[in-house]
Amino acid sequence: MTRHFDYLAIGAGSGGIASANRAAIRGAKAAVIEAKAVGGTCVNVGCVPKKVMWYGAHIAEALKYAEAYGFHLTQDGFDWATLVKHREAYIERIHGGYQRGFSSNGVDYIEGFARFVDANTVEVNGEHITADHITIATGGRPLIPDVPGADFGIDSDGFFALQEQPKKAVVVGAGYIAVEIAGVLHALGTDTHLLVRHDRPLRQFDNDITDALLQRMDQDGHQLHTHCDVEKVEKNSAGLLTITCKDGQQFTDVDCLIWAIGRVPATDKINLEAAGVEVGENGLIPVDEYQNTNVKGIYAVGDITGAAQLTPVAIKAGRLLAERLFNKDMADAKMDFSLIPTIVFSHPPIGTIGMTEDQARACHDDQEIKVYRSQFAAMYNAITPHRALSTFKLICCGPDERVIGLHGIGEGMDEILQGFAVAMKMGATKADFDATIALHPTSAEEFVTLR
Ligand code: FAD
Ligand code: NDP
Repeated sequence: MTRHFDYLAIGAGSGGIASANRAAIRGAKAAVIEAKAVGGTCVNVGCVPKKVMWYGAHIAEALKYAEAYGFHLTQDGFDWATLVKHREAYIERIHGGYQRGFSSNGVDYIEGFARFVDANTVEVNGEHITADHITIATGGRPLIPDVPGADFGIDSDGFFALQEQPKKAVVVGAGYIAVEIAGVLHALGTDTHLLVRHDRPLRQFDNDITDALLQRMDQDGHQLHTHCDVEKVEKNSAGLLTITCKDGQQFTDVDCLIWAIGRVPATDKINLEAAGVEVGENGLIPVDEYQNTNVKGIYAVGDITGAAQLTPVAIKAGRLLAERLFNKDMADAKMDFSLIPTIVFSHPPIGTIGMTEDQARACHDDQEIKVYRSQFAAMYNAITPHRALSTFKLICCGPDERVIGLHGIGEGMDEILQGFAVAMKMGATKADFDATIALHPTSAEEFVTLR
């Protein structure tokens, strides 16, 4: 049996779904192939379940403030299973929404694991499927380190599969996922230890922001262990783990070890050689600015390309590719990778866009750079005994003080950033920020009143 399509996406994650839907909307006969669950990483084991858990943690934190707001509450524990049940039901509803979208757009959804046969053909469940245009959108999977006993731990996929709340967790890693998972577990009451190899997590973020994160973690009783490189993991007869670091630090009686040390691209099992697609040493697929691989008619979008591994980036790259291929009015469409905003759902969240201060000073003369900072207590917790500081920062460049970096950590930062990202994309200067009337009383107003 053989089917032929104008457009075929391998992987029904953020990039694959967006591109197949847009191709179909533009009149192409389109299909998407998925080996696991529709929605990919973001919907099933990424952004969506993570944000639900983060909201759960947010409610736990709000309960700390309730007393100061006049609520006298008796808390009768926290039921992890209820949160997980509601989270998974929500994800099921999202799955349904995707399937309805495929039906109304006319996209064929094919379940199975795809492997290339040649540059126009993939094999799925024994069937050969051919297409004029094939997009690889297979994303990645979590990395497990090569240390003795590593398999006693789980990864972020395993975290979302937990049916019971861990009592004592060790989270290893220093990126988004480690910070987010450790933050959720801590807020929900697990005895949580975050182990990083260097002096801090999120080292690629602006130093003022990570300094503020460290202060907040300390204030909120997070257990951060720095310069901790795991050497081995052992399991005792009771099933509990002992984690030993190279400097001798040891963590005993751990019932949940979570590796969050990065992700590897899913290029190894799809027989790319048969199609002649080049893969970098790191397993990522190199693409040009139009998402073309080295083989005509084969493209790659999303995490598999290594560029800004974020859902909206995969979606936009996928849609623009489909426009370029099937919409003659957008035959030159391509992704603009500049000024990508991003949020870390820490406690409180971090929002960042553009250059850090170090990056700005490295690419411009020092006298061209002007930095504005503010540290303030957000009203939300300022009236409580848990008063805590937010930190906002602008990096400006040149005589017109164009805003080239905007960073913040504080309550609401996750929702604040989007609008400022629009302003920066339009080339806003500090004077434009200052000319904007503040919204009062908010945290966001700090960005338009910085001195
Ligand atoms: P994916 O979404 O990974 O989709 C790839 C799909 O391809 C998968 O469903 C996979 O099963 C399928 N597949 C692989 N090989 C084959 C094959 N051979 N045949 C058929 N199907 C195949 N980003 C944000 O913007 N905000 C967040 O808050 C955020 N939180 C995250 C939290 C976590 C824990 C993780 C892990 C990631 C998070 N991300 C977040 C990143 C985001 O999930 C990814 O950037 C995004 O999912 C990438 O989309 P993609 O289409 O490239 O790949
Ligand atoms: P990241 O690549 O962001 O971070 C992993 C970090 O772990 C490394 O930077 C490194 O930091 C540390 N590390 C690497 N190897 C080891 C090791 N052997 N032992 C201990 N620590 C190690 O990976 P994540 O898995 O956190 O996330 C992957 C990507 O997914 C992110 O980059 C992001 O693009 C996306 N994502 C986005 C989210 C969002 O938008 N909110 C949320 C989650 C993921 P160091 O060198 O400092 O030790």
